[in-house]
Amino acid sequence: MKLGAGLTPGNTTCAGRPTKPMPLEEYRAKRRFENTPEPAPSEAESKSAARVGYFCVQRHDATRLHYDFRLEVGGVLKSWAIPKGPTLDPTVKHLAAHVEDHPLDYGGFEGNIPAGNYGAGSVMLWDRGTFELLGEAPAEEQLARGDFKFRLHGEKLNGDFALVRMKGRGKGNEWLLIKKRDQYAAPGWDVEAQATSMLSGRTQEEIARNLPAHKPKRKSAGAADRTWESDRPAKTKRASKTAVAPAAPAGETSAAPRAKKKRSSISPA
Ligand code: MN
Repeated sequence: MKLGAGLTPGNTTCAGRPTKPMPLEEYRAKRRFENTPEPAPSEAESKSAARVGYFCVQRHDATRLHYDFRLEVGGVLKSWAIPKGPTLDPTVKHLAAHVEDHPLDYGGFEGNIPAGNYGAGSVMLWDRGTFELLGEAPAEEQLARGDFKFRLHGEKLNGDFALVRMKGRGKGNEWLLIKKRDQYAAPGWDVEAQATSMLSGRTQEEIARNLPAHKPKRKSAGAADRTWESDRPAKTKRASKTAVAPAAPAGETSAAPRAKKKRSSISPA
């Protein structure tokens, strides 16, 4: 995968990402890349920046259990609520209700929305990673015409997908999430078979009860691991793990503070 300019190592959470091209120009201007091991933004990366973004899926035990599917486009998280959740099964199409944009910082959120508030219930950070836009048209254009194609690089979700708006139905906010046939497609794949947080390892019940995070699983450099994300540079993955793996303390309701800390750590100049 060609990482975009905003997705250099140690900069893979949405909260820590620059949302405009300008910060990278500043980043570049401050450095002599022949004298620092820091990565230089390449021309190709600069051009592809808008075609790569953060994505996450939050398992949300609200009035009705659903999965919130979010993709970073234009500095916000475009969001769909999917009652049956995303799937790697290319033979089923799951209804995805287009809902309001969420701020980028929301993409790191796991915790409990207190009773009486909108969306009250526990929120699990079920998956996250990056997506690449497929097709020629810019993201906004694909969204406007109701046919959005992308490739996910997540912990649980990988491969090519499409979000397609259903025509002439209901309120006009009904889309379908469709898995394309590729090496990641898995007929019969069960979203509920992996109902633990990729952030804290907790189940929905453990999140709801504010129980502490499980110790982050250290991934061995085994063959399975290498195969698993063979298209992602090892450096990026390690940086990402270091940044996001620390266990959330009990009762923590948002990853925002960590994200803020990280922001300062990625602009060391
Ligand atoms: Mn929700």
